[in-house]
Amino acid sequence: MITVIITFMQKLTAQRQAILDLINASNRHWDADEVARALVDTGASIGIATVYRGLSALESQGLIDSIQLADKKRYERADKAHHDHMVCTGCGHIEEFSHDTIEALQEAAAEKKGFKLTGHQLVMFGFCRKCRQELDT
Ligand SMILES: [Zn+2]
Ligand SMILES: [Zn+2]
Repeated sequence: MITVIITFMQKLTAQRQAILDLINASNRHWDADEVARALVDTGASIGIATVYRGLSALESQGLIDSIQLADKKRYERADKAHHDHMVCTGCGHIEEFSHDTIEALQEAAAEKKGFKLTGHQLVMFGFCRKCRQELDT
C-alpha cells in the first residue's frame, strides 16, 4: 500500500515537473489544452485533468504565473520581470508591455483610496498590428 502511494506521488511530481519545465523553457502564455498537447507530443501520458490540477498547484506554489482572459486562464514563467498584457481579439496574439506612467498611476489611484497595492494585472483587448492590416485591406 505504501509503495503504491509513493509511486503515485513520484508520478505526480514527475508530471508537475514536466509541466513546469515546459513552461519555463518558453516565453509563451499557455492554456491547459496547449500544455497537455505539447506533453503528449513528447510521449508523456498525461490527462487534461492532471494538467489542470498541476497548473493550479504550480501557480499556488508561486512557480508559474497566470493571467485570466475572458475564456480561460493562461500560464507563463514566474521569473519574468513585471509586465502587463495586450490581447488580440482577432487572432489571440498576446503582447507583453510595461509602461512606467501606467504603473505610477495605478499606485496613485490605490493611494487615493488608502489602498496598499500588493500587485495588479492589466489586460488590454484590441487588434494586433497584423489583424489591423487585414481589417484595413
Ligand atoms: Zn491579431
Ligand atoms: Zn506575459
